[in-house]
Amino acid sequence: MNCAICNIEMKEYECHNPVPLSINREDEVCKECNYFVTASRIHLIDVHPHDEVIFAGMLTGILKTAFALKRAEEQHAKMLQEEEE
Ligand SMILES: [Zn+2]
Repeated sequence: MNCAICNIEMKEYECHNPVPLSINREDEVCKECNYFVTASRIHLIDVHPHDEVIFAGMLTGILKTAFALKRAEEQHAKMLQEEEE
């Protein structure tokens, strides 16, 4: 199974509940992304449920994009390194 936020592969015991960052019942997040989940729960505690869905959706989109950019940069660096060898 892959993390719903950073997309790394996880073992069963590494999976965490992603609510409120994802409300899809099949989604799980890794140990690292679970810190984003916990922080979101703290920050969104007094937010109206309707607004929580909007904030959480936006935050999850930002995090997913950030991790995709990180992966792309790492792949590019690896490619350059392989070219040099
Ligand atoms: Zn993750």
